[in-house]
Amino acid sequence: MDNDWGSQSMGMTSRPLGLYVHFPFCKRKCSYCAFLSIPLDAPVRDYTDAVIHELESFVSEEEVLTAVGNRKLASVYFGGGTPSLWPAGHLERILNVARKSLGLDSSCEVSIEVNPGTADARALQEYRKIGINRISIGVQSLDDSFLRLLGRLHDSTQAKESVRFAENAGFQDISIDLMFGLPGQTPAMFEKDLQAVASLGCTHLSLYELTLESGTPLRRRVEQGEVAGLPDDDIVASMLDIADTRLSALGFDRYEVSNLAKEGKECRHNSLYWSGGDYLAAGPAGVTLLYMEAGRAVRWTNTREIPDYMSRGRKAGTKEVLGPRDITREGLLTGLRFKKGIDLKDLAKRAGVDPLAGAMDRIRMLEVEGFLTLKGDVLAPTRLGMNLADRLALELSP
Ligand code: SF4
Repeated sequence: MDNDWGSQSMGMTSRPLGLYVHFPFCKRKCSYCAFLSIPLDAPVRDYTDAVIHELESFVSEEEVLTAVGNRKLASVYFGGGTPSLWPAGHLERILNVARKSLGLDSSCEVSIEVNPGTADARALQEYRKIGINRISIGVQSLDDSFLRLLGRLHDSTQAKESVRFAENAGFQDISIDLMFGLPGQTPAMFEKDLQAVASLGCTHLSLYELTLESGTPLRRRVEQGEVAGLPDDDIVASMLDIADTRLSALGFDRYEVSNLAKEGKECRHNSLYWSGGDYLAAGPAGVTLLYMEAGRAVRWTNTREIPDYMSRGRKAGTKEVLGPRDITREGLLTGLRFKKGIDLKDLAKRAGVDPLAGAMDRIRMLEVEGFLTLKGDVLAPTRLGMNLADRLALELSP
C-alpha cells in the first residue's frame, strides 16, 4: 500500500451498490422478536406507495445522485418483517421504480425473505416471474417444540414445504435461517436440527443466536422460570464449531461469522455490507450509507415509527456525516466478520487515512497468536479470529 490516503478522492463510485426494502409487518409477533414489525393490519397499497415515493424522491436528490454516479444496483433485498406477505404485484412496482431510477445490473441479485406458512407455491412462482432470483426462508428450526416456544406461525412440515415450493418455482439460490442457542438446547439437539435443515437442499445457511431481548414474552417466561434458560457461552460457541465442521463436510464454506454458502452462492447483498459497499434503504428503520469522498460518508436512518414514515417519509429520519475515524471503525467491524477480510486499499480510499496507522504492532501480535493474517493489502480473520471478530475490531480501532 502507498500512503497517499488524503489524495485518494477518486474511485468512490466503483464499488457495488445495493438497495434494501423493508416490510415491517408480520401476521403475528414471535415470542422473542424485538425487530421492527407490527401485526399486518396496515393498508399494504398505501405502504407500497409510501416506499415508492420515498425511493423516487431520495434518488433524485443531488447529493445522492452524485454519490451513486453511474452505478446500477448489484442487489435488491426485500427484508422484514415478513415481506412474503407483500403481494408480487406491489413488489414488482417497487422493482420497476428501482430499475427506472437506478437500473439493475444484468446479474443483479434480487432476494426476498419468506416465512413458511405465508407464501404458497403460486406466490413463489409469481416472485420468480417478476425477477426475484434468491429466496431466504425463515425456517429457524425443524423441531416443532422449539418452533412453538419461539412463537413461530409455522411447523416443521410447513417449513419443508416452503423449500419444496421454492425449488419447484425454479429458485437456484435458496437460503435457510436457522436459530441456535435456544432455551434448553444441547449441542446434540442443535446438530440434529442442523443436519435436518442442511438436508433440505439449500445453497446458503444463516445462523442466528437467540438473544432474550427485554420486553419480549420469551424473556419473561425464562425469567419466571417457566422455560429453561439459554445455554452458556461455551455451549453456544461449540454449536458454531459444530455448524462449521458439519457443514464444511457438506460443501458449505463459512464465509462470514454466521453465514455459510456453497461455492458461488454467497449472499451478494449482505457481502456488500461486509466489504464496504454503498447501500440505499427504503422503509421504516431503513439505513442508507453512501461514501461521498475520501474521509466522508453520509448515513441516513429512517424513523422506526410507521405512521410517521407513511406521512413524512425520509423527512422523519436523521442524517449524520461520518469522518475518517468512523469509516475506519465501521470498516474493521464489518470486514473482520468476513472471511475474505478487508481490502485495506479500498478502506483507505473510503476513510482518507491509513486504517492501520499505529496498529501494526498489535496486528503482528494477533497474527502470531493465530487470529489474523495480513497478506499484501488484505487483512483477514483466521477461523479462530472470526469467532472473536468484534473484539478484534475493537482492539484495532483508532
Ligand atoms: S417473523 Fe421475524 S420480524 Fe416477524 S415477528 Fe417473527 S421474528 Fe419478528
